[in-house]
Amino acid sequence: MSQQVLVFNSGSSSFKFSIFNAESHDLLLSGIAERLGQVDAEITFKTQTSKTTKQIPSADHETAISTLCNSLADFGLSFEDVAVVGHRVVNGGEAFSDSIVVTPENLSKLEQYNDFAPLHNPAAVLGIKVISTLFPALPQVMVFDTAFHQTLAPKAYLYPIPYYLYKDHSIRRYGAHGTSHRYVVNEAVQQLGLDPNDHQVISAHLGNGCSAAAVINGHCVDTTMGLTPLEGLMMGTRSGDVDPSLHQFLAKKMSWSIEQITNMLNKESGLLGLSGISNDMRTLVEARDSGNQQAGLAIDVFCFRLARQIAGLAASLTRLDALIFTGGIGENSEPVRAQALKNLAILGFEAEPEYNQKNGKQSNGLITKADSTPAIVIQTNEELMIAMDCLRLTK
Ligand code: AMP
Repeated sequence: MSQQVLVFNSGSSSFKFSIFNAESHDLLLSGIAERLGQVDAEITFKTQTSKTTKQIPSADHETAISTLCNSLADFGLSFEDVAVVGHRVVNGGEAFSDSIVVTPENLSKLEQYNDFAPLHNPAAVLGIKVISTLFPALPQVMVFDTAFHQTLAPKAYLYPIPYYLYKDHSIRRYGAHGTSHRYVVNEAVQQLGLDPNDHQVISAHLGNGCSAAAVINGHCVDTTMGLTPLEGLMMGTRSGDVDPSLHQFLAKKMSWSIEQITNMLNKESGLLGLSGISNDMRTLVEARDSGNQQAGLAIDVFCFRLARQIAGLAASLTRLDALIFTGGIGENSEPVRAQALKNLAILGFEAEPEYNQKNGKQSNGLITKADSTPAIVIQTNEELMIAMDCLRLTK
């Protein structure tokens, strides 16, 4: 069997995994280990044709990774063929502007940034440590969601607050979804025949979390997310931008604690909060189409804020060659794309309804009229991007 790349995306009580063929880049196996540490912990394996779940009661990350390694034979694979392991890391702070092969030194550097992604970064570090204990000779690579945004200039990454908060405490805008933005921008440049050294595009990653980025010649120049995954666009349950005085206002008015307010902004806001129905765009579009006005209102605010932020990102460009839609909503929601483009007429967008309906669900492709500024749907593939980085760095 030819060599393979194993990709991990670790959370505090779960991890997703994918195994790619190192030559063809075909996805051979993927899956998820969930509810780790609990009695109903389980691991699910998916191939092109099958889905199998194994119960792993009370398994921790280490036990679940061992189960994964020992189960590969069930799918005609062997851990001995894994040549490199890649890990998604949510925040690499200012220390990492590209993916990197793991060493003890850079792993301890990463641990300094745990506070910026308290649920995700420690989980990635744990995954790396488990693999290096089980397979000490196997190279591992860290791929950072923030690395793509390290090309932002100070005018774009600084908050207008006292400078020592940046200098002494690293408080600045880091961005998010960088691996996805990088992947879809590369794909769009190829598919639209743009010059790799002379393009200016905006990428909108619209999933449960949402962010958009302005990119010149492959380098990010501005993005909507900031220090934490709350800034910028409205999301499934996250508010995105609100007045920074909201905490103080609500603390006084409702006697809520900082934790309660932060929880409300992260988990009870966005599409869910405004609609009162769901954080899922599918459900909201169906509800709106059956006459639910609150669902319609949530979608209107989502599309309005999306257009407003995209127009803001355009201020960093001197022309706009394309807008890219990706993520669960960007790839699948034809009405959201249509409404966002309508709100962006000022930038020369006009949707072509036939293309907008056809493209996205099954295929990547343009969704605008011939004389419009181009907008294109590109299916993201963060795992493949991580696998490609692993191969680039360990060749
Ligand atoms: P992601 O985080 O990229 O997996 O995106 C998940 C989100 O995509 C869901 O919460 C939905 O809001 C949205 N989504 C997925 N499929 C569809 C669809 N067919 N139509 C509209 N929204 C969708």
